[in-house]
Parts: sequence; structure tokens; C-alpha cells
Amino acid sequence: MSTPDVVVIGAGAVGAACAYFAARAGLRVRVLERGQIAGGTSSACEGNLLVSDKEAGPELDLALHSQRVWRDELAEFGPRWEFESKGGLVVSPSPSGAAELSALTVRQRAAGIEVTNVDPADLADYEPHLRPGLAGAAFYPQDAQVQPMLLTAHLLRLARELGAVVSTTTEVTGFDVVGGRVCGVRTEDGLIATEHVINAAGTWAGQVAALAGVELPVLPRRGFVLVTEPLPLMIRHKVYAADYVAAVASSDQGLQTLPVIEGTRSGTVLIGSSRERVGFDSRVSLPVLSRLAQEAIALFPVLAGVRVLRSYHGFRPYCPDHLPVIGADPAVPGLWYATGHEGAGIGLSVGTAKLLVQQLLGKPTDLDVAPFSPARFAPRWLAPDGITQGGAHAHA
Ligand SMILES: Cc1cc2nc3c(=O)[nH]c(=O)nc-3n(C[C@H](O)[C@H](O)[C@H](O)COP(=O)(O)OP(=O)(O)OC[C@H]3O[C@@H](n4cnc5c(N)ncnc54)[C@H](O)[C@@H]3O)c2cc1C
Repeated sequence: MSTPDVVVIGAGAVGAACAYFAARAGLRVRVLERGQIAGGTSSACEGNLLVSDKEAGPELDLALHSQRVWRDELAEFGPRWEFESKGGLVVSPSPSGAAELSALTVRQRAAGIEVTNVDPADLADYEPHLRPGLAGAAFYPQDAQVQPMLLTAHLLRLARELGAVVSTTTEVTGFDVVGGRVCGVRTEDGLIATEHVINAAGTWAGQVAALAGVELPVLPRRGFVLVTEPLPLMIRHKVYAADYVAAVASSDQGLQTLPVIEGTRSGTVLIGSSRERVGFDSRVSLPVLSRLAQEAIALFPVLAGVRVLRSYHGFRPYCPDHLPVIGADPAVPGLWYATGHEGAGIGLSVGTAKLLVQQLLGKPTDLDVAPFSPARFAPRWLAPDGITQGGAHAHA
């Protein structure tokens, strides 16, 4: 390919979506991935596209924007990534939790979410295998699901059909900065010149930013998932405990587990979810897996006799304020970010990509992007180790 207009670093769901929307806008796109397609967190997650777990605010606005992209602009491709508008069911075992859930639904409804409060007596109509005696529930018809690896692969295929070039096993090792502006990236195979670089390196986006001399506070937040043997359809929706919303929003470093359960098209049931900040520690934790299993059985007693095939874990790209980073680096022209989506990067990928490409082209954005601006972090500059050419660095 001739000089690309834009280089995307990272072939996860977010990078793939950026590649697709950039190619669709007529840009020449090159994707550089150090491993394989969806080899990062996008293959170590679940594929929920949730509005139910969000309070009113910028992240919910982005989720609702992404819903429109999933359901309108990308509807024709939905079968490729197993898009399923299955709906989410949030349940509360305790009366106090039920009251909080009910208050949350009022705020969410005002913010544009479709939600139905469910009488516990009617829960069996939604999920016949749920344990009896739950105190309250709410149903969110907009919650949906995709298969994240299929999503990533097909978005890249669509981008390639529009001329994008995708290079796997190609690590970005540095930036070419001249006069303070990004002019290219370095790889083992040499320099690739370009005017725009999108850092979509997920949990490793901070490390990639450091190559350009910028500190970006993206940290890993580990999560485990259990996968059962394939079963006849017994769990129809995404089902989770009401306290999950608080766990998602918390900045606690310690272990949090809450039952999040969903069936998949292949018949396996995915059981999450845990959250803990333990760096990139990839050791399997039996106590965490055991807690996930116990909490799932407490909600769905029918799972007690079911075998677990395997478990996996991934590292959510976590920003301290729980918001993604979408937009231009305030001090290094040509460097863009689409990262930091924590536990929602699959659902938010397509809305993020659309907003980023609109910004890159200098067009009006569908949504106010100010809350996601990288400029919200106090600028902290690093030694520009990854920078070649010795051009005057913007913040040297
Ligand atoms: C247990 C768990 C459950 C989850 N469930 C959900 C869910 O249900 N719904 C949801 O929306 N989200 C979920 N998430 C979060 C979601 O997985 C992430 O937000 C999302 O995958 C991030 O995508 P990404 O493209 O930003 O990052 P990644 O998929 O990690 O992609 C980044 C890529 O950048 C590459 N890279 C890094 N450095 C370089 C370099 N120097 N050069 C070239 N390439 C590089 C990496 O190899 C990687 O492939 C979950 C996460 C976990 C851990």
C-alpha cells in the first residue's frame, strides 16, 4: 500500500472498528497488530452490549449512540458476529437491593434507556430456571450480545474489502516525531510514514503512549469467566445481580465478584464476573473461580450439576475515571486514542470508532466527545525513548 493516511495500532474490537470506519470514510488504513487478530482482551471477554449496567452520564450516552450504530448502520452485518438482541434481566435477592434497582430504573428511564420493572412473581416467564424468592427485577430489552472474536475478524474483513491492509505479528516499537508532530511509527520491518496514528492498544495503550513520550493512565483490571459444557437452552437472557452496577463503577482494588450469566449460541453458558486490580498477573485463581460458580448456582440452582469445560481471564483496560479515551492527544498532533473502555469495549467499540473518525476528519461529531478527551488527564510527559529522528518533541 502507498503511504497510509492512518495507522491503527491494535487489532482488537476497538482497533478493528476504527479501521472499518476510517476505511469507509475513504481513508487509506494500515492496521498493525503485534500478535494475532483479537489476540488481546477482545478474545478474553464476553460479548455483551449493555445499557443496563450504566448510570446516566457520558458512558451511557456513548452506549446509546453505539446501540444506534449496531442496530442501524451495521444491522446488515449482525449475523456475521452473531448479534442477538436478547435483552438483559437484572435481579435483586434482597428488598433493599430491589428498592435501589427500582430507583436506578427511574434515573435510567429519564436518560433514555428502555426498561421494564418486573414483578418477582412474573420472573419465571422470563427465566424459568431462576431460583424462587427474588425480591425484585428489571428487564432491559436493548441489551444485546455479539461474539467478540467474530466481530473483530469481520470488521477487519470489511475494512480490507475497502482497501485497508492488516499486518499481524507486527509490533509498533516507536514513533517518528518531527517538529512535535507524529509522522510515522517504527516496527521491526522499518518505518511506516503516516499523518495519523490511532492508539487502540487496549490495556497496553499506556505502554504504546509511552513510546510517544506521553503518560496515559490505562491500567489492567483482571476478570475471570467460567465456561460450562454445552447445554440445551436454559438461560435466555443475560442475567445478573443488581449490585453489578455498583461493582462496575467502583474503583476498589480488591476482588469483587458478582453473578453475571448468559447462554451462547453454541450452548455453553458463560459465568462471570470478577474484577480485581492485580496488574498483569495471569495466574489462575481457584478461589475466584469457586466464588463465581457458587454465586451462579445461587441464582440458577440447575447449574449445580453442570460441568465446567474451562475458564479464561482477561485484563480490562481501566481508566481511573471509568471513561474511555477517545480523541486527539492535546500535545502531540497526529496521535489519536481509542482505548480505556474497561469492561465495555466490545459494546462501545463501534460508537467509539465512528466518533473518532469524525474527529479525525474534522467533522461534527454525533455526540459531545469532551468527556472522553485525553486532555482531561493532567499532562505528564515521559522521556521520549520510543521517538526517532530527534525532532523537537512537543513537550520536551
Ligand atoms: C472477563 C471480561 C469480560 C468482559 N466482558 C465484556 C462484555 O461483556 N462486553 C464488553 O463490551 N466488554 C467486555 N469486556 C471488556 C472488553 O473485552 C474490552 O474492553 C475490549 O476487548 C477492549 O478492546 P480493545 O480493542 O481496546 O483491546 P484489545 O482487544 O486488547 O486489543 C488491543 C490490541 O493491541 C495490541 N497491541 C498492544 N501493543 C501493541 C503494539 N506495541 N504494537 C501492535 N499491537 C499492539 C494487542 O496485542 C491487542 O491485540 C470484558 C473484559 C473481560 C476481561
